[in-house]
Amino acid sequence: MFEDKKEKYITALKEKGVTKPYQRCGNNGFELLNGYFRKTVQKDINTSNIIDTEGYVATVGVMCTNCGNLNTHLAEHLVKE
Ligand SMILES: [Zn+2]
Repeated sequence: MFEDKKEKYITALKEKGVTKPYQRCGNNGFELLNGYFRKTVQKDINTSNIIDTEGYVATVGVMCTNCGNLNTHLAEHLVKE
């Protein structure tokens, strides 16, 4: 469950220096959204093949508390099982 790991993701982001102001608005505050963002992975750039996905990756979303800019980070890279 995401909730069980949320604090570990926040700690990992801070340890990796994901604490700097956002590039667009200069705000320092961020919030980790409550859940995973599933992104599909495809091997062919041809968009007509988008249904033929190879799988997906789970990411966590870090939102700027000022402007709502959303960045995603691979969950597995931040916290190993
Ligand atoms: Zn912002």
